[in-house]
Amino acid sequence: MYSLNQKISAATTKAGRSDSIHLVAVTKTIDIDRIREAISAGATDIGENKVQELSDKMKTLGNPVNYHMIGHLQTNKVKYIAENVHLIHSLDTISLAEEIDKRGRKIDKIINALVQVNISGEDTKFGISPESTIEFLESVIGFRNLRIKGLMTIAPFVGDDYILRKIFSGMYELGEKVKAINYSELEFEYLSMGMTNDFEIAIEEGSNMVRVGTGIFGKRDY
Ligand SMILES: *Cc1c(COP(=O)(O)O)cnc(C)c1O
Repeated sequence: MYSLNQKISAATTKAGRSDSIHLVAVTKTIDIDRIREAISAGATDIGENKVQELSDKMKTLGNPVNYHMIGHLQTNKVKYIAENVHLIHSLDTISLAEEIDKRGRKIDKIINALVQVNISGEDTKFGISPESTIEFLESVIGFRNLRIKGLMTIAPFVGDDYILRKIFSGMYELGEKVKAINYSELEFEYLSMGMTNDFEIAIEEGSNMVRVGTGIFGKRDY
């Protein structure tokens, strides 16, 4: 955690930024004891990509951290995480937005979400295309129990810094475009991009929320 935080602040400084970067510690496959250690070492936010694992960990850990749903979310599973989730990173369909809104209304909670954008155009990834993002936002920002807090993307595994940089800066531009429209229902707070292999570039290109697993817990054994 310590060296990771140092790398994050180095990248922030290099980018000439003074705002703070939110770190989501990605705990998929990681057992509770190691998560507790990370919490003692300062982790305040944890992320999971599967509903079952997230809800199990919510039950076991209670509420010492903010819980993030970072993976694909099926409409019929929203109910399992609605109550305790801090931020859903993977909003990508209107039906999912409707379900989040409905669940939020049931428990009298405003549920925060990011719109997942498929910036690289890979068919295998979930997410809204950059061209459709504004239109998508406009069709969901009126929902009362769903609050859009920004955008999220997963970069492809290209291993080419130049391409990564273009992808991340494209996302940043899209975020700026959304901000400039200045929707009254939208508080744009988070641009969630960057993982273990690319968080430094993501921060340099404007990310303010990174999701790091391997870089904290080491290689996952699936
Ligand atoms: C697993 C995962 C991460 C973290 O990946 P690492 O390479 O281990 O840092 C980030 N975001 C999403 C959506 C993930 O599924």
